[in-house]
Amino acid sequence: MTANTAPVLLDLAPLGAGHFARIEDKVAALMRTRESVVAMQGEALLPLEACIRSAVRPGSTALNIITGPYGETFGGWLRSCGAEVITVDAPFSGAVDAGQVADALRAHPAIDFVSLVHAEAATGNTNPVAEIGAVVREHGALLMLDAVASVAAEPLLTDEWGVDLCVIGAQKAMAGPAGVSAVSVSARAWERIAANEQAPRRSYLSLLDWKERWIDGGRTALPHAPAQLEMLALEQAVDRIEADGLDSVIARHRAAAAATRAGVRALGSLTPYVVRDQDAAPAATTLRAPDGVDAREIVAKALKADAAVPVQAAAGALAKEMIRVNHYGLAADRAVVLASLAALGEGLRAMGVETVAVGEALEAAGTAWDAVIAD
Ligand SMILES: *Cc1c(COP(=O)(O)O)cnc(C)c1O
Repeated sequence: MTANTAPVLLDLAPLGAGHFARIEDKVAALMRTRESVVAMQGEALLPLEACIRSAVRPGSTALNIITGPYGETFGGWLRSCGAEVITVDAPFSGAVDAGQVADALRAHPAIDFVSLVHAEAATGNTNPVAEIGAVVREHGALLMLDAVASVAAEPLLTDEWGVDLCVIGAQKAMAGPAGVSAVSVSARAWERIAANEQAPRRSYLSLLDWKERWIDGGRTALPHAPAQLEMLALEQAVDRIEADGLDSVIARHRAAAAATRAGVRALGSLTPYVVRDQDAAPAATTLRAPDGVDAREIVAKALKADAAVPVQAAAGALAKEMIRVNHYGLAADRAVVLASLAALGEGLRAMGVETVAVGEALEAAGTAWDAVIAD
């Protein structure tokens, strides 16, 4: 950089309270909520942990619905808050259904908190939140929803579905910045949190601090210097979605999932990890590697063929068998999906799997994409 190159990220006018509040309002509109929305100055795990520590205490009974790795993390937080934790597991190849949740609530009437992940980018499944929300609301428990991988990829109707605590991040389908996040808090949830002596106070994890020092004062004075760059980027991400139309952004994600699934079925060797189309997350498609072939090697060879495709091996225990195609944000794009399929085909061929039908895969994927977008 030469001395007279003006740095564009420095020396900005301060981000004032009014502007910060307007960004929160734009996020609330995107989340379809009229409840309080608090923008939080950190990655989405911050409000997720804040919700659990704020609403749960010794004596709480929590239902934790596990459909992927984030649900497992929530279980640990719930226990560390002193809750008794009831777990409902769904296989990562499917979704949980509202009947399973209703059964658990009937079997354990003391359940007062339910944690659920909407869509799992890591396992590629999505859960029927509208139906689960109705069951939870009837029981009277609070519902916390991790919507980080679903917001802007599929419909998210926070209030209509009865979600009390809804957490989003901007870095997935919103194509926005990491490092800033938001949570909506219903009036019922605020009551529960205010009555919880264990809820964090004077802490980075405190939702109550934001209520008392920001919301209750009419959002006229920020409690601390905000993460200005991330907040401005968050605003631009929401503005861009509004300009493109939320419906068309959602349609791109749906098309990407449909095209990837159709393409893989035509390609052969790989299969969609999530069995039923309606359980497949629009943000990311997970694939099962053929028996005896290591998913990590297919990914490495695919990336050697085309380093730009959003393909990765799964983390942890699934790493050997699961491949992820992360078609979210700007990658929810026809050309990106086709390039991903082509690279996976090359990767398989490089591993000695000769039977892959790349041409057919691209054809099937293109047709599936066009069918969704023409709808
Ligand atoms: C990506 C993701 C997160 C984590 O978001 P960070 O901002 O990286 O903390 C949480 N939940 C789900 C479902 C995600 O897909």
